[in-house]
Amino acid sequence: MISDAAALFAPGGALARTLPSFEPRPQQARMAQEVAAALASGRHLLIEAGTGIGKSLAYLVPAILWAARDPALPAAERRVVVSTHTRALQEQLVRKDLPLLERALEPLGVSFRCALLMGAENYLCVQRLSELGLTRGDLLEPRLAEVTEALRRHAALAPSGLRSEIPFAIPEAIWERVRRERDICLGARGPFWEDCLYRRDLARSRDTDLLIVNHALFFLDMKSGGRILPPHSAVILDEAHRVDEAVVSQLGLSVSDRSVGRLLEDLGAGQTRRRGRRDAPAAAVAAGSLSGIVPRVEEAADGFFADVRRVAAALARAPGRGERRGEDRGLIARVRQAGVLEDRLRAPLRDLEGALEGRSAEAAPAESLALASLAARARDLRERLAVFLEQRAPDAVYWVECGARRRSSAILHVAPIEVAHVLRPRLFEDGRRVVLTSATLAAGGSFAHLRRRLGLAAASEAILGSPYDFEKQALLYLPATIPDPMTDADGFASGIVRECRRLLRASGGGAFVLFTSYALLQQVHGALARDPDLRDLDLLRQEPGLGSSILEKFRMTRRGALLGTMTFWQGVDVPGDALRLVIITRLPFEVPGHPIAEARAEAIRARGGDPFTEDSLPEAILTFRQGFGRLIRSRDDRGLVAVLDPRLATRPYGAAFLESLPRCRRTESLDDAEQFLRALR
Ligand code: SF4
Repeated sequence: MISDAAALFAPGGALARTLPSFEPRPQQARMAQEVAAALASGRHLLIEAGTGIGKSLAYLVPAILWAARDPALPAAERRVVVSTHTRALQEQLVRKDLPLLERALEPLGVSFRCALLMGAENYLCVQRLSELGLTRGDLLEPRLAEVTEALRRHAALAPSGLRSEIPFAIPEAIWERVRRERDICLGARGPFWEDCLYRRDLARSRDTDLLIVNHALFFLDMKSGGRILPPHSAVILDEAHRVDEAVVSQLGLSVSDRSVGRLLEDLGAGQTRRRGRRDAPAAAVAAGSLSGIVPRVEEAADGFFADVRRVAAALARAPGRGERRGEDRGLIARVRQAGVLEDRLRAPLRDLEGALEGRSAEAAPAESLALASLAARARDLRERLAVFLEQRAPDAVYWVECGARRRSSAILHVAPIEVAHVLRPRLFEDGRRVVLTSATLAAGGSFAHLRRRLGLAAASEAILGSPYDFEKQALLYLPATIPDPMTDADGFASGIVRECRRLLRASGGGAFVLFTSYALLQQVHGALARDPDLRDLDLLRQEPGLGSSILEKFRMTRRGALLGTMTFWQGVDVPGDALRLVIITRLPFEVPGHPIAEARAEAIRARGGDPFTEDSLPEAILTFRQGFGRLIRSRDDRGLVAVLDPRLATRPYGAAFLESLPRCRRTESLDDAEQFLRALR
């Protein structure tokens, strides 16, 4: 099987015969071989596959051959799960790569069944649909009654909860109220589990050889002890540089004023809230025994989250505490012990839960389940609050986060400090073969950092470089005269503005300017926006929550200059000359003071390690490589990467950053850089 996988990628092989534009790439064939060998041997595999290798086909082919190797074997021993971080990659696999492979492999007698499970927001939730039935028609959404009735009819017969399979349009405002929400979904603990459409999609996935999921679902399954996905013998984690983050998010929990607000709105309280009549009884519950309790919960929630905001501000002001000005200039502050917040919300939530259970017991069957699910949601919120307030979870970090805008949310977070001790027994030592791949996984040519972080003791390893010719396609510009950001922040900011001006003028746009802080982004944006010589450019500034629409705008123009923070360092693909300049303003060390980074550093120190070399530096190198990787996305791309942080040359660790990049031409001369960019226009 190992040689079969590689042979399919050879000149004149099955892929070349099916896809006329197929170009044989040795790295792609090698990757297919490595994945096939890992599946056959049962060893885990870490494989970095540089941009342009065509890694998705390189792992799908051996995965399919593995799943189809012996139809007599039980499905669980053949099934492979492929997990990605982004929806874009899921769609590429399902709509492009797998249909192509179906055609290519059919003449060889290889067939396979595959299914896709998408992120939560793509599914209709019958529990929420039923809860919506408890409320009276919403004056703000005149089509609510008509659409919910149609959805009810659809849900009664539908084999799938996927939105794309609903045969009529649903206004976004209504979809938001009936879609599956992670924060609300009770899974098998809820009363609608038997009728759950999402569960039907999960059940269908049992008839497959290959299952495409996202990291959120994959690690939710791991957390549930494998109760969600069908048993499988292998998993391929693509975009594996996001695994750590996905595990933290699935194993952690959060509670926000919005979580509580959503429960109250689903009880009908939202209608009165939105109209500003806080004292008016909630529409759905006015007639029953809840009319006194709902306003009490609302009042308690308002008071509790006002406390959260006050505590966040006070903690953030205290010396040595974790304040961070995020994308929306909000506050993040670690809470180190129980008792910092007054426990004034749990008791009203318990009363609400009891009253809803009481009403559910008396109600007619149609309403009874919806009331029971609302009771279960109140209990779930109360239990999550308990975890935060009592701080009993071992190896966890607790923090509060508040947006700076008046209407932004206040959130309590709990997250595991390290994921290694969870992943080791539940993923790497439970008998499954695990392949981790991404264009960027190694720091300084080594996977040591990733293995330590994820708890992966033994694995085969391979680093496959990009087939692109960076010597010809890219120029790296490293200016020699910018002040150090640590000792002269103002001089550094002025230097960034000066360099950006000249580089953007020379390129005429087509640029990403990547920042690590929103404050510096705003400062530079302000200065560039006032420059009359840049008036012809479309200067785009990342705003909180506008990542994808701003990217669409950028793609439409050749004259765009997009100033972005961490969202734009990775996973953003702009091939062609729409992007010909990437400016990295500062080395992407994690912002000090974020509670998870701080707690992780404490844990490393406690083991006698050095948090900088073990964690901060390799993480920064990986992000740096991701930022650099935005530039060359196809064989025809040409462009310049400017790294404006002088620490690359002045600090001992600078060399590690430079050595991590593909070999390409370098210059310290701004004139050379400008000339190169003008030639690209
Ligand atoms: S388990 Fe319940 S809450 Fe979750 S999607 Fe299904 S019906 Fe909705």
